[in-house]
Amino acid sequence: MRRCVLLLIAILSSALPAWPARAAIQTRHVLVVVIDGGRYSETLGEPGTPHHPHMAGELSLIGARPAGMFNLGPTITVPGMSGILTGAIQDIRNDGTERPHTPTVGEVLRKQRGVPDSLVRIVARKPKLEVVGHSDHPQYGAAYGAAIRAGFNSDLETYVAGRQELLQYKPTFMLIHFGDTDYEGHANDWPGYLESITRADSLIWQLWLAVESDPELAGRTTMFVTNDHGRHDTLHGGFQNHGDGCPGCRRIELMVVGPDSKAGYMSPASFDQRGVAMTAAHLLGVTIPTATGEPMDDILLEITRPLDVPGGGRAAPALALAPNPTQGPVRIRVDAAHAGDAQVEVLDTTGRRIARAVRAGNEFMWDGRDASGRTVAPGAYHVRVRAHGQQTIAPLVVIH
Ligand SMILES: [Zn+2]
Ligand SMILES: [Zn+2]
Repeated sequence: MRRCVLLLIAILSSALPAWPARAAIQTRHVLVVVIDGGRYSETLGEPGTPHHPHMAGELSLIGARPAGMFNLGPTITVPGMSGILTGAIQDIRNDGTERPHTPTVGEVLRKQRGVPDSLVRIVARKPKLEVVGHSDHPQYGAAYGAAIRAGFNSDLETYVAGRQELLQYKPTFMLIHFGDTDYEGHANDWPGYLESITRADSLIWQLWLAVESDPELAGRTTMFVTNDHGRHDTLHGGFQNHGDGCPGCRRIELMVVGPDSKAGYMSPASFDQRGVAMTAAHLLGVTIPTATGEPMDDILLEITRPLDVPGGGRAAPALALAPNPTQGPVRIRVDAAHAGDAQVEVLDTTGRRIARAVRAGNEFMWDGRDASGRTVAPGAYHVRVRAHGQQTIAPLVVIH
């Protein structure tokens, strides 16, 4: 009996949330994917986005992106990757012999939250990226480093290793780096460069499908897709190289998908790559004391700082869906200014209402069934939120 009670206490205490009270934030895992040296004019910035069909297609529909995203530090790989990981501009050597000087979000997670190294992981195509596994900051460093594997023969190999680690460990923080795009650029191989961007786009979509099909990761993972830097625009030497402050080198892409970011949202804001670390830290309940960037509040449902003026009165409602794609039930979150008055419906692609979502506390749930109780067929649907005379519609994909 006594042993049973002790066991029960042990189970209960291990099940207690180790996370600080962060109201409604649902993210427990962050995945950052970097396409090394993808220039905006061939990624999300290209008219018709022929080399980014998934990023501009499904992921744009379910995710959030800003009007502008930039590398404001040195536009080369190690500094760029370090900026993404530390939230600070790192003017450091690019050959893998100088570490970031301020801690990465992974080091902060490990030190502040006691997250084990098995749950902070980096899988990178380029061998020199071993150097971003941890900083050389005296209060952080190797003792808080990430489990890192750097150096693969292709993005496909990197993807296979990254996906396997993601599904095996279900890391709190993981970064996957694709490097073929940069290698092909430096080789001055235009078709190879474009092909690499297209391949990375497809691997990213496969990663998201893996996340949303995993029982632990689905609906609890926020994915960021970005670049370490762009490449010279035509006026500054063209796509082969990069490294200066020209608009082509500075401009990069960003997509954020997850349970705490707005669905199908194009933000008028501009961010820079330090914002990835800032926002990831916010979602995971830590702050990086040495970071200098700004979190990406405009794309989040739960912002990091209260607004001066209560917003949302006349604005359209913002919503987040998780998981998406879903194999059945989906949780629908509506921003606080609209949630109280919101009506949430699921529509088919012709706009016909097939079900109403039911309120569950501050959220809404749809069980994946139509009004007569039948499980709906796999395919594309829309979630419509109406509140205060405004409406927002976001796509939802059902897979079986
Ligand atoms: Zn390069
Ligand atoms: Zn340039």
